[in-house]
Amino acid sequence: MGREVDKSFAAARAMMEKAGFKILVPVKVSVDPQLPFMGYTMPEGGSFSIVVSGGSVGSGMLEGLLVHEMSHIYRMQTKHPSHNPAILDEAVENILGENRLLDYQQKSLHDLLNDIQDLYADDIAFSVFRGSRAPFLKDAADFLQSWVKDEPVRSGDTVRDRWANASILVHNARQLLRCRGIMLRMLEVRLLKATSGSSTGLLVNLRRLSHSSVTRWQA
Ligand SMILES: [Zn+2]
Repeated sequence: MGREVDKSFAAARAMMEKAGFKILVPVKVSVDPQLPFMGYTMPEGGSFSIVVSGGSVGSGMLEGLLVHEMSHIYRMQTKHPSHNPAILDEAVENILGENRLLDYQQKSLHDLLNDIQDLYADDIAFSVFRGSRAPFLKDAADFLQSWVKDEPVRSGDTVRDRWANASILVHNARQLLRCRGIMLRMLEVRLLKATSGSSTGLLVNLRRLSHSSVTRWQA
């Protein structure tokens, strides 16, 4: 397990650097076999710790996950506002004022902020994937689709259900947006192969497709 993590981390780091997103801070990666979601990143003084789930190792998606986590690190390294805790705290304070949130409301708010940060991390991650062959994209698209919930929560507690369903709505939108990005990247890879890597040929093919699937995905 450790060797696959080290290998994927080295490959992901090299992909980031090649794409112009060099990580300048120390980063360590560890595996939590019990983690119920894919992974997360924690700042630790001047360094960062990425924790990935046991299930992500051997899934074929570890490299993609590590690029995503390092994209968060790049945003923190470059002090992007989306990853600045002081700015996020102030925004939340402005919305809440004197109101205090219950635990489940805090979780919804936390998930919402996380989805926003993911948007900015994925902007980088997809730029990195664009410069690579990224064989994990197909698995990633299937995996993300499996996270989309198509049934609302109906527990009988109306207020609680509203919070949960608003959270599901935002999260679904986030996952679908990611799937769209992955599908566009897969299309690009296929077209590049079909045109033997020629960017002129790629543009010609993209123009041909501009009235079909590409525009539908962008809708
Ligand atoms: Zn993330």
